[in-house]
Amino acid sequence: GETIWITVNVVPITKPGEHEAGSLLISFTDIGPVRKAQQQLKYLATRDSLTGLYNRAYLADRMRDLFEPAGLSTELARVAVLFVDLDGFKKVNDTAGHEAGDALLCSVARRLASCVDKKDTLARVGGDEFVIVVSRYDTTGDLVALARGILEAVAVPFAVAGNEYYLGASIGISLFPEDGQDVPTLMRNADSAMYSAKQRGRNNFEFFTADLNKHLQRRFAIEQLLRRALAAGELSLVYQPIVDSRRGRTVGAEALLRWYSRELGDVSPVEFIPVAEDTGLIVPIGNWVLEHACEQVAQWRRTLAPDLVIAVNLSPRQVSEGLVERIERCLARCGIGADALELEITERLLMNDSDIVLPILSALSNMGVRISVDDFGTGYSSLSYLKRFPLHNLKIDRSFVAGLPDHRDSIAITQAVVAMAHSLGMNVTAEGVETPAQASFLRAIECDKQQGYLFSRPVAASAYARGLQESSQAVQEPAALRQAD
Ligand code: C2E
Ligand code: MG
Ligand code: MG
Repeated sequence: GETIWITVNVVPITKPGEHEAGSLLISFTDIGPVRKAQQQLKYLATRDSLTGLYNRAYLADRMRDLFEPAGLSTELARVAVLFVDLDGFKKVNDTAGHEAGDALLCSVARRLASCVDKKDTLARVGGDEFVIVVSRYDTTGDLVALARGILEAVAVPFAVAGNEYYLGASIGISLFPEDGQDVPTLMRNADSAMYSAKQRGRNNFEFFTADLNKHLQRRFAIEQLLRRALAAGELSLVYQPIVDSRRGRTVGAEALLRWYSRELGDVSPVEFIPVAEDTGLIVPIGNWVLEHACEQVAQWRRTLAPDLVIAVNLSPRQVSEGLVERIERCLARCGIGADALELEITERLLMNDSDIVLPILSALSNMGVRISVDDFGTGYSSLSYLKRFPLHNLKIDRSFVAGLPDHRDSIAITQAVVAMAHSLGMNVTAEGVETPAQASFLRAIECDKQQGYLFSRPVAASAYARGLQESSQAVQEPAALRQAD
């Protein structure tokens, strides 16, 4: 009573000496299992085996079908590609294990499927990456609604094996035909937009734009060229004097990195340091900075003043095993004490895993290296780290100094930072001091040190030495007077 698939074989049977077949041998074979295997294969070839969603290969086929102009209709298809990347999945996978990770991905897949219309295609294209191809939309408002719906769906906590997990998603959207006319371009542009959304802060979506494309191309160029910059001798250091507020004496310098690229010209550290951090290039570059800055201060201590301090910016990625030893070796090689070096760290670093960061900073501090918090006041609202870490100095960000001496909020903030730092036994440096009025205000509130264009722009080592010689002659008298009392 069932229908089954069979093959039929027919063989004519001819007697010896006769030409016509006398009978036929007919045999039937049940090919149900073979058909099933074939269908299974076809399914497997188009599906992601974990979640059962479509895979990348099927997605590409489906997109190509959609891009073909539909018959003779002149109306162009309007197709959108949404690239969805989970936020926070890697952490779950690493800590809770792959089984939990797999279960979580299946739950995510189900939630995404519930957001997506039947006519549209949902695929998993990588570990925690999904793509939705919307085969026809009316306005971009529809896509915004879809993206918001996905973000909301993913934001609801997931229950897996008795635990609750919180995820998020970043979504990039590219449109056919505006943003590309073939599968690779549209996928790449949706991916770029996703990346940009992630950079802006997670749980976001973003449409691809030509500006984004330009921005990413420049970023890509910087990344490629920066890889060779160190070996090509394109990096150099400039030094900006740091001045003692009370006496006006130069007590040290901050070493600042400069890159002159043969292809791109001067590139600001504001632009290339983040790229160096993302790619890990900051580690070799940062080591180079450290070596050169220490050599320079060693030379200045011999020729200019024996107590000059060099401040070096340290990226969070440099703070790992081996840093303490590296700095020890570097100081020994240059023949200077640890008091010659001040490391400028970011508030971001202090928010990182303190199990790793705290012992390293403590070891450096015990050695005698001073730790300074750069751009203080811009990063985080929590100040609890000030008690937990061995810190010696706070650098008030120049955005606060810019409002001095008239802006009420800037006054309140700088005064409060100075008072707090002093009561915690720390010093304060003001960055970005540009006017005499700012300098005298900072002196009046007993900010210890100052740095900014008022005293000098960052300059080459030779110019720094010249400036220091000139200024030491100029302030000799008041300094001598102060020493007397
Ligand atoms: P930062 O450490 O806060 O450095 C101070 C920045 O303020 C420098 O910009 C300096 O030129 C600028 N500046 C100094 N005085 C004034 C002023 O009076 N007015 C204004 N408007 N600006 C002033 P620069 O050299 O472009 O460096 C930017 C950032 O790049 C640095 O900020 C630092 O975060 C990063 N950076 C620079 N060199 C290195 C390095 O060797 N390693 C690492 N990890 N980061 C670096
Ligand atoms: Mg700095
Ligand atoms: Mg700074």
